[in-house]
Amino acid sequence: MAVTVSPLFSPWGRFGLYSFFIDAEEPAIVDAGVTSTVDGTVAELEKSGRRIEDVRWILLTHGHIDHLGGAYALWELTGRKAKVVIHEADLDYLRRRRAHVENYLELRDHYLDNPEAESQQTGMAEAAISGEMSADVVLRGGESLSLGGGVSVSAHSIPGHTAGSVAYVIDGQNDVFVGDAVQIHGAANGFPGYEDPNAYRSSLECLRDVVRPNRLFLGHPYRNSAGEPYDIGLDAAGAAQAFEESLAIEARIREAVGEGFAETSSPYSPFEAVATEIGYSGDPSLEPSPFFTTMDGYRRLFDGESEGGR
Ligand SMILES: [Zn+2]
Repeated sequence: MAVTVSPLFSPWGRFGLYSFFIDAEEPAIVDAGVTSTVDGTVAELEKSGRRIEDVRWILLTHGHIDHLGGAYALWELTGRKAKVVIHEADLDYLRRRRAHVENYLELRDHYLDNPEAESQQTGMAEAAISGEMSADVVLRGGESLSLGGGVSVSAHSIPGHTAGSVAYVIDGQNDVFVGDAVQIHGAANGFPGYEDPNAYRSSLECLRDVVRPNRLFLGHPYRNSAGEPYDIGLDAAGAAQAFEESLAIEARIREAVGEGFAETSSPYSPFEAVATEIGYSGDPSLEPSPFFTTMDGYRRLFDGESEGGR
């Protein structure tokens, strides 16, 4: 018998996050929202006749704040009975709020002229993350988790958006939860976000060719090339289209990067040429914005290659 999946919406800031409830013998929640959305998640669960106390698994697709901030509070509400699961490469984000600030300072801060950024990021992590904790299950990819009653979930490592991004697959029915690992043209910001362009491309190809979702569940309503939002639950054909659009925009950005970088007066400097080529007109200083995170990944690739890294 098919396992039921229900989306649980968490509004936060300029956009919202979708968590998902997997109604197994040992029920699971995929992703946790932030501190302020925990009550809403619990209420949505109760509307469908389920109780947070019964949840036995909190499956985190990756370490970003909007996906793990509510994990500690939800875990407490399960009577600390739920097992919290994350990939080892993103575990530090669960353990330390400061890890989020360090990531910001490393990847984005030097492109933006905002002397308040560090204190703003620190305050945001403080408010949005309900508690620092370790994980009960630390993934490397390839694991199988039993949710009881013959239902199992497999974990695939799909790095790129973050190093520890994971796809959870309900075995048999091939429902796949990817969080933010399939960006298409990005969510509210209109630009796709990933830290490692090569890993991102490989992971999209793995999802398309190996995982081959029957249904694909996304963490946000990502946009297509016309700026219209995709649904957060896609059938096989919709998933295939999302992979192709994601790969196509990645290829266009990569090609534009080939023209090199230059300091200019543009807010996209030193990546003005890429913004122009892609036709991107979003505000890269609005947080959270993926533009500089993604471009920093290409710059690392580019610098590595010009130093004879290949
Ligand atoms: Zn994310």
